[in-house]
Amino acid sequence: MDKISIVVPCYNEEETVLAFYTEAERVRNAELANVEFEYIFVDDGSTDKTLDIIKKIRSTDKTVRYVSFSRNFGKEAAISAGLSASVGDYVALMDADLQDPPFMLPQMYRAITEEGYDQVGTRRATRKGEPVVRSFFARSFYKIINLLSDVEMIDGARDYRLMKRSVVNAILSLPEKLRYSKGIFSYVGFKTKWLSYDNVERVAGSSKWSFIALFRYAVSGIADFSTVPLAFPLFVGILFYILFAVCAVIGLTSKSLLSAVCAVCFFTSATTLTCVAILGKYIAQNSTEIKNRPLYIVRETETDED
Ligand code: UDP
Ligand code: MG
Repeated sequence: MDKISIVVPCYNEEETVLAFYTEAERVRNAELANVEFEYIFVDDGSTDKTLDIIKKIRSTDKTVRYVSFSRNFGKEAAISAGLSASVGDYVALMDADLQDPPFMLPQMYRAITEEGYDQVGTRRATRKGEPVVRSFFARSFYKIINLLSDVEMIDGARDYRLMKRSVVNAILSLPEKLRYSKGIFSYVGFKTKWLSYDNVERVAGSSKWSFIALFRYAVSGIADFSTVPLAFPLFVGILFYILFAVCAVIGLTSKSLLSAVCAVCFFTSATTLTCVAILGKYIAQNSTEIKNRPLYIVRETETDED
């Protein structure tokens, strides 16, 4: 019998986790009765009753497992912990809030077992309902990162996916501490089928992402999957040589030398600071890797109680 591990990162999801489990079980009973499920809820340092609810579900269903972190380490760390703990032949990665609809699982499973794909990813069909500004920045982000990086990032791709064990092993074999999963999923390759679906609202609770957090996440992703921005100082340097040369010529022929020099000086300092900030970002990410701290610290798992 095939086993699917359902990995669910949870951060303060007391309002959604039971609804998620109930819906996933409904789908399994209705359409995947010949498949075994294993749930791995990763409690990412929740401060509400998320872990208690997971334990309660486990008391009636031993296929429910959990990993609970010592504090909040972020969704990327939770994904890694869940993938490491999973033992299924296939692994599904799903949010707890039912924005990743379980009813798609049978179709995803068939795509792998019958159509020969290694993994099935999902993407939102449209950005309908999203605030205009957020949608603009999201689209721009995908354009920029795909221009700068060799790894293709799919616009609107969600983390919701079903993978074969070989794909999971490839993901876990990447040693980096900064785990930008959108990039990592593309980086490992494999034969991937994409399914589109309309955006679903959270069943309860609220999103953990602020606009600032999304922006920082986007910048980290670019620095993680492209070194092109490091060439920025070189291009700007060349531009300045040209600008200074033009100023020198203007200075010989006109009286506006002072204002031209002032303008170039302001432009130079602003751009120099930008270049320093770009370098700083790469140095910061390097230092995270060099420190080699663990991705997460586990406080308890279901094996502690048995
Ligand atoms: N999540 C997590 N750790 C965090 C933030 C979020 O494990 O630090 C989980 C969260 O519980 C949910 C999933 O990641 O299951 C997606 O989070 P959210 O719904 O806030 O993101 P959105 O759907 O708005 O992108
Ligand atoms: Mg969500």
